[in-house]
Amino acid sequence: MKKKISKQTPSRPGAGASRREQPLIRQPFPGPRAKEVLKKDAQYISPSYTRSYPLVAHKGSGMWMQDVDGNRFLDFTAGIAVTATGHCHPRIVRAAQRQTEKLIHMSGTDFYYEAQSQLAEKLAHIAPGNSPKKVFFTNSGTESVEAAFKLARYKTGRERMIAFFGAFHGRTMGSLSLTGSKVIQKGKFGSLVPGVTHVEYPYFYRLCKHDDFLRYGEECVEFIEKVLFKKTVPPDEVAAIIVEPIQGEGGYVVPPLTFHPALRRLTKKYGILLIADEVQSGMGRTGKMFAIEHWGVEPDIITTAKGIASGFPLGAMIAKADVMDWEPGAHANTFGGNPVACMAALETIALLEEGLLDNATRTGDYLMDNLRTLSRMFPAIGDVRGLGLMVGLEIVKDRETKEVDPALRDKIINESFRKGLLLLPCGETSIRFSPPLIAKKSHVDTALEILEGVFRKAL
Ligand code: PLP
Repeated sequence: MKKKISKQTPSRPGAGASRREQPLIRQPFPGPRAKEVLKKDAQYISPSYTRSYPLVAHKGSGMWMQDVDGNRFLDFTAGIAVTATGHCHPRIVRAAQRQTEKLIHMSGTDFYYEAQSQLAEKLAHIAPGNSPKKVFFTNSGTESVEAAFKLARYKTGRERMIAFFGAFHGRTMGSLSLTGSKVIQKGKFGSLVPGVTHVEYPYFYRLCKHDDFLRYGEECVEFIEKVLFKKTVPPDEVAAIIVEPIQGEGGYVVPPLTFHPALRRLTKKYGILLIADEVQSGMGRTGKMFAIEHWGVEPDIITTAKGIASGFPLGAMIAKADVMDWEPGAHANTFGGNPVACMAALETIALLEEGLLDNATRTGDYLMDNLRTLSRMFPAIGDVRGLGLMVGLEIVKDRETKEVDPALRDKIINESFRKGLLLLPCGETSIRFSPPLIAKKSHVDTALEILEGVFRKAL
């Protein structure tokens, strides 16, 4: 049972814990420099942030994060699924340095520069499907979603949008209207953009009332046509359906293979645009450049950000060329497509194509196998799911009732941190594993040894 995760039976020569690089935690913890930063943070920084534990980052290298007191952590968060190529990959650093020496900013809104057109060409070619594509550059995920929202209304002349419960699309007013994740994100902000209707996302483990996974994917789409379009939402008023190929903040929920193709058929039937929000699932995280490729679907619009430039702030809204035909002045920004970020993105994509996509699949499968083994040891693990290195573990009080246990989930994440493993929560009661795409089996072995110890102690 413990074959793949135990210290006693390493899966290959050299996989023993003693030979691997290990986290290093000095006592007492948190250390003196971390305490100073936390104090200043409490005094001067917006209290709206949601820190799970007091990591004060100082230096990152590959899979490892060193804090200000010299503690070393194994990073299975990648700074919320961002540092795709690992922390400070030497090729990313060099690409950014070279560009910084030449041109830092000239605003793509009013001028032209090579870095931007070069990256747009690359993104247009790697985006799924054969239709020609065009790119609008942004600085973040929420901005990519805002751009997609506006383009959908502009192109169709329709106002309504359909999104999913559990979805996270960002926190600015437009994207927040589409978000259906947690009420705390919406409360007290007044009325948002009107015309958004949320429907059930195929969250099989928690919401499906039977055991036919594939059928469930179709049912969720049929509800839109058979109920929504007949009772409350005229289909000819819907500009777009926006969907995360795999729900991220909502709990790393992987929908059935039937789901996205059914959505594509429905949207085509009613002249509705399909927007795939790949901000979290895109840029190689699932083993393909864009997660929607696993379903063989070409969306009309794709939003991306996070991992695109290995940590430099950059986002992109990629659309079919005949959809992105708005006129000059219709939409723009000052910083989108910053040349340094563009060069980091081109290097990121090169690294993905040179092997990190395959690595994400390989290491992701190994991680899932090991988490399944762990779930056989600890009944508090209700579900293990994911694709590539986008993997979720759902924590429950009881496997039969599936009662959520966010307190235990938080405890496990906190204890893992104290043992040198960085994890993040997602959904109501899940743990997410979103390491840099350079993660190797040996990193998984180390992470799982820590996690096994934490589960033993916590339970
Ligand atoms: N869309 C998805 C799917 C996301 O996961 C996120 C962030 O987690 C966003 C949009 C918003 O991105 P940002 O935080 O960069 O605004």
